[in-house]
Amino acid sequence: MKTEITRNNVNLLKILRCPACEDERIDIVNEKFQCLACGEKYRLLNNIPVIVDKSFSFEIINNLKNNMSWEDYDSDGITKKIAEYSTNKKSIYQYITPSHRVQVGPTYESFLDTYNISGNVLELGGGPNSLQIPGVVNCDINSYKTVDIIGDARKLPFKDGVFKGIICNSVLEHIFEVEKVVDECFRVLDKGGYIFMCVPQVCGRHHTVDYFRWTVPGLKRQFSKFSIINQGVILGPAMFVSHIVVSLFRSLTPFKFVNSTICFILEWLFFPLRFLDILGKGNRDYEDYAHTIYIIGKK
Ligand SMILES: [Zn+2]
Repeated sequence: MKTEITRNNVNLLKILRCPACEDERIDIVNEKFQCLACGEKYRLLNNIPVIVDKSFSFEIINNLKNNMSWEDYDSDGITKKIAEYSTNKKSIYQYITPSHRVQVGPTYESFLDTYNISGNVLELGGGPNSLQIPGVVNCDINSYKTVDIIGDARKLPFKDGVFKGIICNSVLEHIFEVEKVVDECFRVLDKGGYIFMCVPQVCGRHHTVDYFRWTVPGLKRQFSKFSIINQGVILGPAMFVSHIVVSLFRSLTPFKFVNSTICFILEWLFFPLRFLDILGKGNRDYEDYAHTIYIIGKK
């Protein structure tokens, strides 16, 4: 198989930087990405280049791979299977299952449109459902099909200022060294470029590696290197309520089947509650209890 250097219309050789020595001369040598300065060779995983520093252990990647189950976050057992089934069959039911989210804030597309962002965009930790439009580079720690580069958010394998925009949703809480991620985002963003950062505010723990939550003032302070030009809610309080009701019953009895049956019924009963977020949008306290919040910053 020939090594792909172009993904989503982006020539990777033009944007990559060696995370080991920070030199910008990376090229293909014998079908492998290699740093021409320090000689570091980067392997492919499912044909995706793994551009991570040696100090970043592959054990971590494998650990994340085995435990990464964001799909589990919304649904339990049978509901998850129904969601998977309807998604595979591309049926309308994929939109009316408890896996559906009622998003009230900006979408990635509306963000790119509003701020007139053209040029390369970094999707940080885009996972298996990243934005499939030309110019968007999905850098993730896992080898999902839609990932373009496997990289470490604390030491991004990109040159300074190569992106006009950065989009990231529900990733930051999974990385302990948040300051490093903020610094790296600032470094790879072009002057005048925009960052759209979404994080959970009130939300249950949803992974073995899940460390933090933020409020809007906390998130603004975390990203104070950027000029914050917008802020608000992505998923509202009703989303949180629908989750928490189901979670209460997740371990109610010692019998797994009984628990998942109760959860199954509750998920279907309470998921329409999420549409209340559309009504609540203008309320004064709406932001304070929102499930997921965001900021938009400019460099
Ligand atoms: Zn190097």
